[in-house]
Amino acid sequence: MELYKDTYQIQSLFGGRNLFQYFFKGDLGVLLDTGVADTPEKAIFVYLDRLKLRPQDISLAITTHADMDHQGGNDAIKQASPQTRLACGEEDRELVEDPQALYDRRYNFLKRDHDLALEPVPPRLAGSPRAVDFTFSGGETIRLGHNWRLKILHVPGHSRGHLAFYDGQHRAAFVGDAIHGRGCPKATGEMAIPVTYYNVDVYLSTLRFFENLAIDALYSGHWPVMRGEEVRDFIAESRRTVDFFERVILTSLEKNPAGLTLKDLIDAVSQAAGDWPQDTILAMFPVKGHMDRLESRWEVRRVPGLHPVRWQKVA
Ligand SMILES: [Zn+2]
Repeated sequence: MELYKDTYQIQSLFGGRNLFQYFFKGDLGVLLDTGVADTPEKAIFVYLDRLKLRPQDISLAITTHADMDHQGGNDAIKQASPQTRLACGEEDRELVEDPQALYDRRYNFLKRDHDLALEPVPPRLAGSPRAVDFTFSGGETIRLGHNWRLKILHVPGHSRGHLAFYDGQHRAAFVGDAIHGRGCPKATGEMAIPVTYYNVDVYLSTLRFFENLAIDALYSGHWPVMRGEEVRDFIAESRRTVDFFERVILTSLEKNPAGLTLKDLIDAVSQAAGDWPQDTILAMFPVKGHMDRLESRWEVRRVPGLHPVRWQKVA
C-alpha cells in the first residue's frame, strides 16, 4: 500500500498477526525491518517487483529492534543484494546479529530463576546469523530527497536499542513495536500477544516522548495505521496498561502474603485482563519489569532461598 508519495507499507501475515515493513523510495532506498527469514522472498521482493524495483534498490535495510519477526530476513536481504547495508540500534546489535543470542538473552533469560522460557533453539524463521554494517543511537538523519528526511529516534522500552523514524515533512512516525497499547493484535482484531516491555520507567519515558512529538500518522510493526486522535488514544491506552499491571500485581501480592512466583503473577494479570490469548507466557517480560521496579522501590522483596523466585509485598 502506498502511504504517501514514494512511501510504502509492505504487508504479510505471521502467526495470525499483520507484519509490516516500510519502504522509502528516495535518493536512497530505505527499508524498515526485514520480517522473518522468508519475508523478503515472500513479501518484500514481491512488492518491490510491483514497483519495478529489485532487491539491489534497497540501499539500507534497518531493523527497528531485536525480535525474530523484525530481523529474521536480514540474511536473505544480504544474500539477494550484497551491496545493501544492514543497520540497527547500537544497543540491540548483538541480538540482531545472532538469533541464538536473541533467544538466550532476550527470550530465555528468566529460565534460571523463574523456570519460564520459550523453545531453547531458535526456529528457522528467526533467520541465520548476519552481521550488520552500522548502528544508530538516535539523533541521526537520513536524507531521502529535497526537503525529505527521516530523523532517527532512540525509543527503548520494548528493547534497549529500539529505533523509530520520523518524517517531519509528513508528520509521520514509523515506530516498529515501541508503543504497545494493550498488546499486539491479530489481523482480525483480537489480542494475539500481551503487551511487551522490559523496563517500565524507560517504556514510560518513550511514551512521554511520543506524546510530545507532532504525529499526524502512526505506522507500526503490527497495529493498524492510526491518525490524529487515534494516536493520542493509543499512547494513553499504553499508559493505562502499565498502571493496570502495577495495580493487579500489588493487589495480588497483598492477597497472598506467603508470596507469588512470576508465573502466579502472569496468571493474575491475565485473569484480570480477561481477553488475553491462551498462551500468556510472553507477559513474563513486562511482569518481570514491574517486579524489578517494585524491588528497587523496596515495595516487594524476594522470599529467601526459594526456587522459583517468590516475591512478597513489604508490609
Ligand atoms: Zn514485532
